[in-house]
Amino acid sequence: MIVVMKIDTPDLEIQKVIEEVQSDNITPEKIIGEHKVIIGLVGDTATLNPEQIQQLSPFIEKVMKVDKPFKRASLEFRHGEPTEVLVSTPNGVVIFGQNHPIVSIAGPCSVENEEMIVETARQVKAAGGQLLRGGAYKPRTSPYAFQGHGESALALLAKAREVTGLGIVTELMDPADLAKVAEVADIIQIGARNMQNFSLLKQLGAINKPVLLKRGMAATIEDWLMAAEYILASGNPNVILCERGIRTFDRKYTRNTLDLAAVPVLRTLTHLPIVVDPSHGTGKAEYVPTMAKAAVAAGTDSLMIEVHPNPAKALSDGPQSLTPEQYKALMQEIAFISPVFGRQSQKLPLPTGVVDLKIHKTASTV
Ligand code: PEP
Ligand code: MN
Repeated sequence: MIVVMKIDTPDLEIQKVIEEVQSDNITPEKIIGEHKVIIGLVGDTATLNPEQIQQLSPFIEKVMKVDKPFKRASLEFRHGEPTEVLVSTPNGVVIFGQNHPIVSIAGPCSVENEEMIVETARQVKAAGGQLLRGGAYKPRTSPYAFQGHGESALALLAKAREVTGLGIVTELMDPADLAKVAEVADIIQIGARNMQNFSLLKQLGAINKPVLLKRGMAATIEDWLMAAEYILASGNPNVILCERGIRTFDRKYTRNTLDLAAVPVLRTLTHLPIVVDPSHGTGKAEYVPTMAKAAVAAGTDSLMIEVHPNPAKALSDGPQSLTPEQYKALMQEIAFISPVFGRQSQKLPLPTGVVDLKIHKTASTV
């Protein structure tokens, strides 16, 4: 249930309402929006009577039930106002949100060695990316496949961060590694396979670091939002959702089915920012630029793209990785099309004239 306070309600009055509704079963949460303050009531709200609550103060504009199983993640909980997740990087604050330029996260599937991660980071930065991705702990289907270099890879990510100023996105698999990963990561990634690892999700509530929650490969949109709810309910409001494709019957030509319809659907359900990962979503580099652009058209707030200096030699996910040159060309196209979909482009210069555009198109579809 949410209690919407009128514009310019005095703080004391808000506090009075919070104290009145607080009980063993109900936790009120004050949400400060751009124009209004909302008090979210979470817990056993079935017994609450909205009309009675309305009587608590003349400053209450309205009282509404949230009929979805996810509460804090619901659009109603912020009265329709999109959440902005702020990520501090050495290069400045990067904002994930609907009213901001599209954020680009790029880098290899896994961190392989110092040279490759630092060089990739440099190229990602030069192309206009704001965050470097790279796995230190890799969730692999086979126990015999490369599992990531672990702690030493975290140190290499820290190095790449220092050299380029890019923020770092890296995956946490084991709650025991939380402190180590949080020290290096500016955003902690929770992979598709751990989307419903509830004890891991609860641990993320204890920190304030932004969390990129990937959609489980067989998760419904509601399962996914309930997983986000775990993080929000345990105290961390900085959750970013990442669509990375789901399992369907066709695996012959694509690795997953990128569910781009999830983007507009999520917009009707949640205030949380959205990232689309067309690399895992398709599994093939040749389809990544098309689906990245389609994600922009669908309204994503950010893209996550796997980029490797030599995809043929990558230790994981080479077939779906773009080369730095392909990534650069894609970034130019994204900058060009973003304004058409109501997004400011990033700081990249817009290509001017038909000749430029042709060059970009050819380059990204190599
Ligand atoms: C990854 O980002 O490299 C990864 C393993 O992703 P997912 O959890 O979506 O499979
Ligand atoms: Mn990968």
